[in-house]
Amino acid sequence: MALLLGWRKEGGSVMKSFLIKPVLDENYKKISHGKGVFLYDEDGKRYIDGSSGAVTCSIGHGVEEIIEVMNEQAQKISFVYRSHFTNEPAEKLAEELARVLPGSLNFSFFVNSGSEAVETALKVALQYWQEKGQYRKTKIISRWMSYHGITIGSLSLSGHTDRRFRFVPLLDTSPTIHPPYCYRCPYDLTYPDCQLKCAAELEVAIKRIGADHIAAFIAEPVIGAAGGAITPPHGYYQRLKEICGKHNILFIADEVMTGIGRTGKMLASEHWNFVPDIVALGKGLSAGYTPLAAAVVSDHVMEPIVMGSKMIMSGHTYSANPQSTAVGLAVLNYIEKNQLVSESLRKGSILLNELRKLQVKYSIVGEVRGVGMLTGMEFVSDIFKRIPFRKEINLTNFIVMKAKENGLIVYPSSTGIEGDSGDAILIAPPLTITEEELQLLIDLLDKTLYEVEKHLQVSEIN
Ligand code: PMP
Repeated sequence: MALLLGWRKEGGSVMKSFLIKPVLDENYKKISHGKGVFLYDEDGKRYIDGSSGAVTCSIGHGVEEIIEVMNEQAQKISFVYRSHFTNEPAEKLAEELARVLPGSLNFSFFVNSGSEAVETALKVALQYWQEKGQYRKTKIISRWMSYHGITIGSLSLSGHTDRRFRFVPLLDTSPTIHPPYCYRCPYDLTYPDCQLKCAAELEVAIKRIGADHIAAFIAEPVIGAAGGAITPPHGYYQRLKEICGKHNILFIADEVMTGIGRTGKMLASEHWNFVPDIVALGKGLSAGYTPLAAAVVSDHVMEPIVMGSKMIMSGHTYSANPQSTAVGLAVLNYIEKNQLVSESLRKGSILLNELRKLQVKYSIVGEVRGVGMLTGMEFVSDIFKRIPFRKEINLTNFIVMKAKENGLIVYPSSTGIEGDSGDAILIAPPLTITEEELQLLIDLLDKTLYEVEKHLQVSEIN
C-alpha cells in the first residue's frame, strides 16, 4: 500500500513531518543520504534498499555521472515550455528510446509520473480511433488486481479495492477480467491444463461488450504493487495479443514498474515476445533522480494522428523538461554501458533461487515469484490450503517494519482482494547490486522472516 503521509505546519514556524496514518511507526526517520544500494538515516543507520524505493532507483543512489549530468544541465537550462522550444535532451532521449525499444515504438510523449504516462496512453488510444472515424471505440478493458496509477483515469482501470473505495463515484466503470494469478486461480484450474482460460476471458468480455465499443486493453506484464510480482505463464500474453489483434483493440502495456531493464529485458513484454501498441514507462526511466515518465507509441498508432489533427491533446507544464530528460538520457546510457539489463536477468535468477530457499525454511511463505530483479513473496497462514492471514493482523506492514528495523527496505504489496489481507512484499533491489550485497539482503530477509514467524507463534494470531 502507498504510504499515506503529508507535512503540516505545527505551531510557530516549524514544519513537522506529520503522519496521517502511521504505517511505518517510530522507525519513520528522516533520510540523510544514499550511496549505491545503501541508504542512511538521520541517526546514521544503514539500510540496504531491497526494493529500489518503490521499484524506482534501478541504478542505485548517488551515481556520480548522473549527478554531473544534472549539474551540467542545470547550468544550461532546467525548464523551458515545450510549446515555445524543443530541447536537445528530450529529442535525444526520444531517439534513444526508439532505438532500444522493440518494434516501431518510435514516438515518446514525456510526462512526470507513471499515472500521467498511463493517462496519456489512454488518451492516445481514444484519439487513434477518433482519427479513424470510430468514435464509439471508447472503453478500456483492464484486469482486476492491477495498479495503473492514482489519478482518476488510471485508478479507474486499477483493480485494487483499498486504493479505489473512497473515489468510486468518480471512477469510470471499466470492464475488467481476471489476472493470471495461478497461485489462486479464479477458475480453480492448473496450468497448462487450464488452457489459459484467464486469457480467453478477454475474448468473452469483448464479445459481451462489442469490439466496436472497445479502444484498448491495458495490463502490467508483471503485476507489481497490487500483486507482489505476479508473473503469467508462457503463452498468456501471446494469447491476449492475438485476441486484441483479431478484434481490432489496441494493447497498452503498463511497464511503469517493469520497463527499462527491471525484469532482465528492456521491456518485460519482450519475455513473452509481444510488442505492445502503446507502452507506459516511469520509475526506472529516470531511476528516481528526477520525476520522469513517458507514453511511447508505435508508428501505426501515430500514423492517423499525424495525418489527422497532428497533435496529441495532452501535456503537463513539466512535460519533456530538459532537466528530467537529460537525466533519463544519462540513466539509459548508464544502463547500457554497464549492461544492467542482462545483469538484471542473471542476478535476478540468483535472487529468485535464494528466495526459494527461504520459502522452504519459513512456513508463512506461500509463493515466491517474479522475473529478473522484480521478485515477490506472498504470505499465508497455511501453506497447504493457501489461507491468507486475517486483514487485522496487518502482516505485510509488520514484515516491512521488522525488515526496516533490521536495516532492509522491502516494498509492501498486497493482492488487494476485498476481505483478504493478500499479504505480499516486493524485493527489487537496484540492478547494480553486487552478489555480496545480494547475499546481505537475503541474510537480512532471513533474519526478518525468522523474527516474524517467532512473533506469530508467540502471539498465536495466525
Ligand atoms: N503503473 C504501475 C504498473 C505502477 O507500478 C505505478 C506506481 N507504482 C504506476 C503506474 C503509477 O506511477 P506513479 O506513482 O509514478 O504515478
